[in-house]
Amino acid sequence: MTLTAAPERSVLDDAREQLAQAVETLGLGPAVFAMLAAPRREISVSIPLRRDDGTTEVLRGYRVQHNYSRGPGKGGVRFDARVDIEEVRALAMWMTWKCALLDVPYGGAKGGVRVDPRKYSTAELERITRRYTSEIAPIIGPNQDIPAPDIGTDEQTMAWMMDTYSVGRGHTVLGVVTGKPIALGGSQGRAASTSRGVVAIAVEALRHVGIPVAGARAAVQGFGKVGRGAARFLADEGVSVVAVSDVYGAIFDAAGLDIAALERFVDETGSVVGFPGAQAIDGEDVLTADVDLLVPAAVEGVVHAGNAEAVRARIVVEGANGPLTADADRILEARGVLVVPDILANAGGVVVSYFEWVQANQSYWWSEDEVNQRLVDRMTRAWHDVLGYAARRQLTLRLAATCMAVERVFRAHEMRGLYP
Ligand code: GLU
Repeated sequence: MTLTAAPERSVLDDAREQLAQAVETLGLGPAVFAMLAAPRREISVSIPLRRDDGTTEVLRGYRVQHNYSRGPGKGGVRFDARVDIEEVRALAMWMTWKCALLDVPYGGAKGGVRVDPRKYSTAELERITRRYTSEIAPIIGPNQDIPAPDIGTDEQTMAWMMDTYSVGRGHTVLGVVTGKPIALGGSQGRAASTSRGVVAIAVEALRHVGIPVAGARAAVQGFGKVGRGAARFLADEGVSVVAVSDVYGAIFDAAGLDIAALERFVDETGSVVGFPGAQAIDGEDVLTADVDLLVPAAVEGVVHAGNAEAVRARIVVEGANGPLTADADRILEARGVLVVPDILANAGGVVVSYFEWVQANQSYWWSEDEVNQRLVDRMTRAWHDVLGYAARRQLTLRLAATCMAVERVFRAHEMRGLYP
C-alpha cells in the first residue's frame, strides 16, 4: 500500500504554519513566533551498528527538544525509514503543544532513528537502541527529557533505553523513559492509553455533531499501537468499524468488521490482509470510505490536497500525529468536516506517560481503573475546554487547541523571563 504525501511542503512547514496562525490570533508578534518556531536544543548522532553477519553499518539518529519552559522535554522515539531532522522537529513542536494543552508539566521533544526496524533482528535492534541511548544520554533524564515509544518502538525498546541509561548512571532510573513494561515500572493502562483517549474524544465529537454513537460508521487507518486499540474501543462503544488498514493493505465490510476476531487474526498472521469475510480494498479507500468518522492512525500527511475532497466522513479524529496537511485542513474546513486535532485527540499516550512518571517518582502504583478514569477525565475536560475556546472565538478546533497551548507556553516563558 502506498500512502501519498503532498511533496511540495514538509510536515515542519505545516507545523510552523499552525504556530504562525496561533501567534497571529493571539496577537503575540514575530519575536514570539521566532522563539517558538525553532527547537531549543537538538542533537544528531551517528549509530554505528554491528550487523549479525559481522558487517558494520552507520545509522543516523536525532533527539530534538523543542521547548522546556513548562518542564522537562517529553516525547517518543521513532524507528522508521522516513525519519529526518525536519520530521523530528515538527513532531517535537507538536509534543510541546500536546503537553501544554493537556496541562501535563512538560515541554516537548522527539527522537528518531532513520531505520526500517522490520529489516533488523531483535539483537540488532537492541544494539541500535543501546547505542542511540548512550549517544543522547547527555541530554535526557527524568528531569531533563523523557523519551517514550512511537512508531517502530515499543515497551521492549523502552526497557533497553532505561537499562542503558541506568547502567551509565550506576543505579536504576525508572523515570528516564515511559511506556516501559509493567514489570519494570511501567503503568497499568499505558499500552492502550492513546487509543482509549482517541475513542473518548471520538465519542464526544459524535455526540457534539449529533450522530448517535451506537451504530455510527467508522474507518480506521493503521492497525498498530493507536489504530488497533481505537478500533477495539470504538467497537466496544457500539460503533460499526467498516474499514481498516495496515502497511500491507486494507479491508472493508459494510456490515461492520468483527474487531475481536480481526485482532485474533492479526495476532496469528501479522496483518489485516486476508481477514475472512472482508473485502480487500485499496489503502487509500479507507480514507474516503462512506463513514461518519475517520480515524487516521498511521503516519503524517496521508490526507492532503490531492484526496481531501474525496473524504466522506463528517468527523476526522487524528489518531496519528499530523495525518492531515495544512491544505487538507483548509479543504475539510470549507466542507464543514469537523477535524479534531492530534494534539488533543491522541494526547492520551502522553497523559498516561505522565502518570507513569509520577508513579515511578513516588514508587507508588495505581490500579488500571484509576489510570483509565483519570485519563478519560483529563481528555474530556480538554475536549470541553477546546470546544468552548473555539466557540467563543469562532476558530477551528485545531487553531483553538494550538492557541491554548501556545498561550500557556508563552505565559510560562514570560513569567520565567529571558536569561540573561
Ligand atoms: N509518541 C507518543 C505521542 O506522539 C507518546 C509520547 C510520550 O508518551 O511521551 O504522543
